[in-house]
Amino acid sequence: MKKIFLSLLLLILVSGCANLNLEPSNASKERKSTFIPSSDELVAHFIDVGQGDANLIELPNGEVMLIDAGIASMGDDIIEYIENLGYDTIDYVVSTHPHADHIGGMAEVIEAFNIETIYMPKAVSTSKTYENLLETIRDKGLSIKTGKAGVEVLDEDDLDIVIVAPNSDDYSNLNNYSIVLKITYGDVFFLYTGDAEEESLEEITSDIDVDVLKVGHHGSDTSTNKSFLDKVSPNYAVISVGKGNSYNHPALSTIELLQEYTSNIYRTDLNGTVIISSDGIDIEVKTER
Ligand SMILES: [Zn+2]
Repeated sequence: MKKIFLSLLLLILVSGCANLNLEPSNASKERKSTFIPSSDELVAHFIDVGQGDANLIELPNGEVMLIDAGIASMGDDIIEYIENLGYDTIDYVVSTHPHADHIGGMAEVIEAFNIETIYMPKAVSTSKTYENLLETIRDKGLSIKTGKAGVEVLDEDDLDIVIVAPNSDDYSNLNNYSIVLKITYGDVFFLYTGDAEEESLEEITSDIDVDVLKVGHHGSDTSTNKSFLDKVSPNYAVISVGKGNSYNHPALSTIELLQEYTSNIYRTDLNGTVIISSDGIDIEVKTER
């Protein structure tokens, strides 16, 4: 209880928002395991950046991963959010694909922190935002690792991060180059899909039966389909989406489909920032509103 209070207090300090909902713990999927719950938690922040993605993960080994950095105007907010958590280093930066709602704030973030490793897909874009990002990475003397299916980002005893897509080298839709990551901590599994569409998601051969799904492409109906959700069978789903966006994301059909699998559906346009933490067995969800 004390721990819950402390983490709640921390969240209030971090978000500057006293209006929080604290949801009770729920057990993760039942799996045969010998994992002993750890005091080192994995904390997954689905930061509310309007229409776009910015997912920060505090790993139980003390490292930090950032997947995407929203549109350009959100760069400062993302930097402040990470600094308020007490970090000056980001160990893993993942730029899922070169669209402005994912890489817009990335150059600013890379300038603001010590960066250890950057993963990007082998996709080409001629946008100014993308060229500016590459220039920032070059200026900082950093190199880029190619993110594609089969790449092990991290492989420790109870903590594992692997890239499960893209599986092909050539797509007509830039969204399909999205780096898709599976994170395993003890008995708990997360899947981050970027904006990968059906074409790429169908190519995934890894086991993607997970507890927490970061829903693809802001909940559009071109990403989440029944055959994908049959493989994932999520207990929790998070949609990163902006209020009143011009794309009409998320699609009503996506929400209805997700509801067939779970009632734990969170949306950054309605819930604000969503924080899902786990000790490797249980899962706890906090929302800004
Ligand atoms: Zn997007």
